[in-house]
Amino acid sequence: MRRKQPRIVPGGSVLCQRMFTRIGCAGQPPSFRVEFYPYSSLTLTLRRRNDQMIVRFSDLLQRAPLPVLEGAAALLLSKIYRRRTPRALVAPYHEYAKSHKTRQRVQKMRGGRVRAASLHPAGEHFDLTEIYDDLNAQFFGGELRRPHLGWSTRNWRRQFGSFDPGPNQILLNKRMDRPEVPRYVVEYVLFHEMLHVKHPTRRSGCSLLSHSPEFRAEEKLFPEFDRARKALDLLARGRTGLRFRIENLASRLLS
Ligand SMILES: [Zn+2]
Repeated sequence: MRRKQPRIVPGGSVLCQRMFTRIGCAGQPPSFRVEFYPYSSLTLTLRRRNDQMIVRFSDLLQRAPLPVLEGAAALLLSKIYRRRTPRALVAPYHEYAKSHKTRQRVQKMRGGRVRAASLHPAGEHFDLTEIYDDLNAQFFGGELRRPHLGWSTRNWRRQFGSFDPGPNQILLNKRMDRPEVPRYVVEYVLFHEMLHVKHPTRRSGCSLLSHSPEFRAEEKLFPEFDRARKALDLLARGRTGLRFRIENLASRLLS
């Protein structure tokens, strides 16, 4: 990774000297050297080197308006010189920091969507998009919106499927993308996750709340419900060596 160099803040020394006086320090202000520094978060630091005070603003402030930089300097200097923090002066910095955090959260969310969009629904044996569309036509009148679909990147030990409403994606355990697994098993797991799309809950993952009585009733409309659950039981036992009762199994392995 390229190492970024600090950059001098234009007019930074005069700005800090002005804030030195504004926070109520008397006498000749010290000499300041003010830099934008490539911190990974909104960080402000100050240290003394000989007769000079070295002030570092996070370079995330590089495009911030002047009152924000003044606020940052006032906040830093009032802490160092033990003065009461002048609220009005510091307010623009606090607001900027808050909105910066908001933007970061938005970016993070976007990042999640980008990852979701790059999932690969076409496995080696089963194409989830095709199965989804078939099930949608058969059980939902073709009206269920299609989330991002994909196979897990690893073999999951405890789950056959999941629906996560945040990134809006259904993932299926890639252990099922094998020729010896009957298609109706994959269909059943995907159908179960589609019911989570249809019956949204606040929590992702399986809980008693996510499987309401209506959910359970609709799930049984799947023609091969019993066969599929027995096959999942065998698949789970074959790999983990654990013995579950079938009734418990589906609720542990599907979400
Ligand atoms: Zn579930």
